[in-house]
Amino acid sequence: MIEIATQLIDRLRQAERVTVLTGTGVARESGVPTVRETMVGEWAGYDIVDLATQQGFIRNPRLVWEWYAYRRAIIEQCQPSASHYALVDLEQYFEQFLLITQNIDGLHWRSGSRDLVELHGSIMRTRCFECGTYYTSWAEDESIPPICGRDGGYLRPDVVWLGEGHPKHELSRAYRGVAQAQVFLSVGTTAQVQPAASLPLVAKRAGAVVVEINPEETALAVIADYWLQGEACEILPELIRQLTT
Ligand SMILES: [Zn+2]
Repeated sequence: MIEIATQLIDRLRQAERVTVLTGTGVARESGVPTVRETMVGEWAGYDIVDLATQQGFIRNPRLVWEWYAYRRAIIEQCQPSASHYALVDLEQYFEQFLLITQNIDGLHWRSGSRDLVELHGSIMRTRCFECGTYYTSWAEDESIPPICGRDGGYLRPDVVWLGEGHPKHELSRAYRGVAQAQVFLSVGTTAQVQPAASLPLVAKRAGAVVVEINPEETALAVIADYWLQGEACEILPELIRQLTT
């Protein structure tokens, strides 16, 4: 039995602007392996700097492309979870809604969320290393990495690598959504990595009710108004059920 405080349900019923942050806990429910979990087998001998930095890509673009292709193939077999679908329902429920994710698996997009900020990009997109043109499809059978149609530059995954900044436009959308939120939900993330770590604080300072949904207590407990303990795939559908009945 999942206990959700009546006051929280009431607060959500009155809210017009809600912002949600999701992290690895939500990816894990769909079976998406962590970065470390994919550095096994033929990838075990590499350092993360070889695989997920600009320097690594310049040194060996083929190696980096193949590691991401390997991870993409795993993720393509993963299915959105009850959490992903509940977040699609939440998007429909509120007048203004923003979903911010730290996950790069593209599963929020696949399940139907559209008011979405992918803070660390998406492994399901690529962009030209030279000119930045985005591609959502590309030929895998010719050059590795595939080549940009405009200038012949190599395509790279559209994710934020170590040492890279976050996309400015996405970052400001995220902060705007958080600052305007009346309720802020932090779901399946320990929110220890910037910029995600600062989002609950921004929400709190702006007067939002801060809710944490997580099996374990995190550093967020200090500022959270509610901690719903458990897996997001159980709590989020229950939240929707209580909101809509
Ligand atoms: Zn290009």
